Amino acid sequence: MKEFTNEEIDALPKSRPEALEQNLKHYSGKDCKRSDQHRTVRTVTNHACINCHLITSREFHKANPDYASVKGKNHYENNKEEYKARAKRNYLKRTQNQRELKAKVRRLARQKEKEVLTTKVADMKAQLEDHMTDREVFNAKYGAR
Ligand SMILES: [Zn+2]
Repeated sequence: MKEFTNEEIDALPKSRPEALEQNLKHYSGKDCKRSDQHRTVRTVTNHACINCHLITSREFHKANPDYASVKGKNHYENNKEEYKARAKRNYLKRTQNQRELKAKVRRLARQKEKEVLTTKVADMKAQLEDHMTDREVFNAKYGAR
């Protein structure tokens, strides 16, 4: 859930109709029952203060520590095939990305090797030419006359 800064809260519309008109999801509106503890930011969809919702949600999960894990397990049990299909999709996508990356690395390595060899050959040719007479260089390039 988004945390609002004081500046952001000040900038919010003061009523729900205004928020609706501006196509916004939050407004400040009437102070909530805990307005002595926090600023009021209300949700357009259910009129509730998001800061109060956060407090009650925390209290609920403290009082029902197994709720989330049981709910998660139930959801998994009821949607096993979807979970498995998604895991498979993600696995395939990941391995596909890895294969593409490996291929790219190999391609770059080959290209680099080629460049190094080309440079080496050019160096060797230059060294060789340093030890040849002009005539020999000419003959090497264009064939003996
Ligand atoms: Zn509140």
